Amino acid sequence: MSFELDRRAFLAAALGATALGAARPAHAQRVATSAKIVIIGAGAAGSSLANRLAARLDGAEITIIDARKRHLYQPGFTLIASGLKPAGYSVSSTSDWLPRAVNWIEEGAAEIDPEAKTVTTDSGTQVSYDYLVVAAGLKLNYDQIEGMDVGLIGKDGIGSVYASPEAAEATWREMDRFTDEGGVGLFSRPATEMKCAGAPLKYTFLTDDYARRKGNRGKTEIIYAAHSKSLFGVPIVNEKVRMLYGERGFDTRYEHVMKAIDPGRKVATFATPEGDREIPFDFTNVIPPMSAPDVIRNSPLPWADKWVGQGYVEVDQYTLRHNRYPDVFAAGDVAGVPKGKTAASAKWQVPVVEDQLVAQIAGQEGTETYNGYTSCPLITRVGRAMLIEFDYKNNLVPSFPGVIAPLEELWVSWLMKEIALKATYNAMLRGRA
Ligand SMILES: Cc1cc2nc3c(=O)[nH]c(=O)nc-3n(C[C@H](O)[C@H](O)[C@H](O)COP(=O)(O)OP(=O)(O)OC[C@H]3O[C@@H](n4cnc5c(N)ncnc54)[C@H](O)[C@@H]3O)c2cc1C
Repeated sequence: MSFELDRRAFLAAALGATALGAARPAHAQRVATSAKIVIIGAGAAGSSLANRLAARLDGAEITIIDARKRHLYQPGFTLIASGLKPAGYSVSSTSDWLPRAVNWIEEGAAEIDPEAKTVTTDSGTQVSYDYLVVAAGLKLNYDQIEGMDVGLIGKDGIGSVYASPEAAEATWREMDRFTDEGGVGLFSRPATEMKCAGAPLKYTFLTDDYARRKGNRGKTEIIYAAHSKSLFGVPIVNEKVRMLYGERGFDTRYEHVMKAIDPGRKVATFATPEGDREIPFDFTNVIPPMSAPDVIRNSPLPWADKWVGQGYVEVDQYTLRHNRYPDVFAAGDVAGVPKGKTAASAKWQVPVVEDQLVAQIAGQEGTETYNGYTSCPLITRVGRAMLIEFDYKNNLVPSFPGVIAPLEELWVSWLMKEIALKATYNAMLRGRA
């Protein structure tokens, strides 16, 4: 093994335990119960919670409902779309991560009745619960952009890192071609809540980096259309990104929300305060509006007065318990909390749901609370990233104070994303991180 590989392996091992924030091992003390617990969604949050509850509860009947047989490691999509990993890097089997003691119903949840305490599956099977945890992630609404369809990804300069590992790979092919040929690269994000709000920014940086490496930046224009008056929700991070975008020569346009795309003409239309604006492109990374899955959005569980129409579950932002149905919790992207649609947030939310739920079963008060922890290894070029970690108050909360400066473009922060993150993510799925 070369020195370089040695050094990378060592750092990966050292960082592995903490790439999604400091380690949070499962509690040891077991609680006896015959409670029926249903978890909707076997993604990052659902699988992790299933493992932690199976380890923690003695005699509970735990059921997880999810039709998806493939588990998708979504943070890997950015690396796939940058030609650094193959599509298979992000794919495993849902069954690989679920504990034997948990009953997996391989169907979608079609209806939730929190009064009757039942979930009905796609085939009409009714499952009753004492406690429900909603961990169904979120839905990508490509159809809300007129003219857009996932079938277009990989053709006519249209990319989309979000849709699937295969779409990410097709996006790489378009980005690779674009950075050979040059032209206009158009980047944007939706106006809705979204998972990993840093991902649109990262991919803009990466496209610029490839164009520079190939010596083609001179014939490349990079436009970033921000949905609001800022580039990122945390003011100090926004300032840093704004500065870097200026240095890298990006043409940033504010208050632009993509509403239509014409693949034939290679033109995207944006809603702006001054009316619709057309921007032609040679390559674009389409990121669709997002919402809670329909089964959640159409249930009585969402907030009535927040994220209206998006359907996120009305939970207390600290305990993640539903405000109106105390036997319902939410974890992961679907939780209606002001921050935290990342795997790193799921890692911090799941132990809170575990603690609050187990305490409730035992007739006690839970003690763990979620502080909004969110982390984003914001890649700025191949081999460099800023490890940005923040909480509900927009405070930067670095896991390695004095070692990794959050707003500096560092190789070690890049390694967090490229190597350590997946190992930590997998440990989280098993309930061990
Ligand atoms: C391009 C990209 C880059 C990212 N980068 C990062 C990063 O660098 N760092 C980071 O921490 N996070 C990152 N994320 C975000 C991270 O992947 C998500 O926040 C995380 O996966 C959320 O976990 P979850 O369990 O809430 O949702 P998911 O992991 O998406 O799982 C949701 C599950 O719910 C299931 N489901 C949906 N509807 C139903 C239904 N009706 N019934 C039953 N089950 C249902 C789905 O099939 C799925 O299995 C990135 C995401 C993307 C797309």
